[in-house]
Amino acid sequence: MGNKIRTSAPGRKCAFPRCKQVLSIYNHSPYCHIHREKMERKQAMQTPYHHPA
Ligand SMILES: [Zn+2]
Repeated sequence: MGNKIRTSAPGRKCAFPRCKQVLSIYNHSPYCHIHREKMERKQAMQTPYHHPA
């Protein structure tokens, strides 16, 4: 189809419950910017490695 730029499907919404934020086609995360940070932080806390303390 000649689609060279990697984009996601348009009109996706954030996967976070009740978040109605529409995601950019350049955002390949299932979450919006705010919730993506939130989820990454949560995952980092659940990871037993790289504990800062
Ligand atoms: Zn969100």
